[in-house]
Amino acid sequence: MPDCLFCRIIAGEIPATIIASNAHCVAFADINPQAPVHALVIPKKHVSGFIDLGPEDDILIAQMAHLVNDVAGKLGIAPSGFRVVCNQGVNGGQTVGHLHWHVLGGRSMGWPPG
Ligand code: 5GP
Ligand code: ZN
Repeated sequence: MPDCLFCRIIAGEIPATIIASNAHCVAFADINPQAPVHALVIPKKHVSGFIDLGPEDDILIAQMAHLVNDVAGKLGIAPSGFRVVCNQGVNGGQTVGHLHWHVLGGRSMGWPPG
């Protein structure tokens, strides 16, 4: 297991504002929000990135999707809409090597993304 920032958040070694969780996943507030609402949904087990997901993770992926919707409902951005982003690898702009889905809302999003 690499020394992983998000594994340390899950272990409670680094504080984070937890928003919601389920059996396999946790959602917490991003420390550097890019929108009025910016949460991260992550698996409790270490998965390095989107590309590392496999068939054994089908339930995990479903739970991540459910947790996105739970977060959107809890933070009041479901009616107005929101964006889910996963940055994969260098060109994707991934900076933390533990899979995470960004949930961004509370303002209108531009397209195409930068
Ligand atoms: P990435 O660039 O890998 O797609 O996204 C990593 C995200 O993790 C960034 O949005 C960044 O602000 C967030 N982040 C980095 N360190 C911490 C931290 O210690 N706590 C929290 N809550 N978020 C973090
Ligand atoms: Zn990790």
